[in-house]
Amino acid sequence: MTPIPGSGLAKGLAVTLRTMTRKSVTAQYPDVLPELPPRSRGVIGLFEENCTVCMLCARECPDWCIYIDSHKETVPAAAPGGRERSRNVLDRFAIDFSLCMYCGICIEVCPFDALFWSPEFEYAETDIHELTHERDKLREWMWTVPAPPPLDPGAEEPKEVAAARKAAEKLAAAEAAEAAAAAETPATPDPPGPGPATGPGPGPASGPGPASGEGGPA
Ligand code: SF4
Ligand code: SF4
Repeated sequence: MTPIPGSGLAKGLAVTLRTMTRKSVTAQYPDVLPELPPRSRGVIGLFEENCTVCMLCARECPDWCIYIDSHKETVPAAAPGGRERSRNVLDRFAIDFSLCMYCGICIEVCPFDALFWSPEFEYAETDIHELTHERDKLREWMWTVPAPPPLDPGAEEPKEVAAARKAAEKLAAAEAAEAAAAAETPATPDPPGPGPATGPGPGPASGPGPASGEGGPA
């Protein structure tokens, strides 16, 4: 069947018209920043206070792009007669984002909630070495980590929150008891000042007077 002359042009115009009326999906980055979901995998933040240098993240990373150095320190016994303990102190924590494949395994396996995803993605560098982020930079990313979603209303209270709440209640009760005890204690009288002497003064002599009774003048 021979094509109708001009049908190709009409089809092309129809496609053009259809496309013109659709919403554009082209993102005009960097003039317009994309609206990313809050849990996007942009960069990894380190909350180093939580890190115990267990090395689990470095061992599980499929790209071996997490570098951790540490040393041991001896902590004195908490109570007299107790035993000294040793603990790991973090010296270096770095992630090479030129190797990272954003799988999230390190974040999943960290047992102490020290690693988090941040949606920030604008950290391109012209020097590949700059893509190794050391611990200070990883900490800076922590401030861009979105707050966790609220708990389900029926969820059990997290044990950390319950422990902190109990400790705060105990402290408040102890402070209230202390304040009540202080209010019940009677005010102590003022110490005596330098007033007139209240001791025996120089009064009339009360010694033996003239004899009376028996033995009068004969
Ligand atoms: S996201 Fe994956 S590849 Fe990147 S540092 Fe973590 S474990 Fe390694
Ligand atoms: S798994 Fe977590 S606690 Fe262990 S070394 Fe990595 S960041 Fe630190």
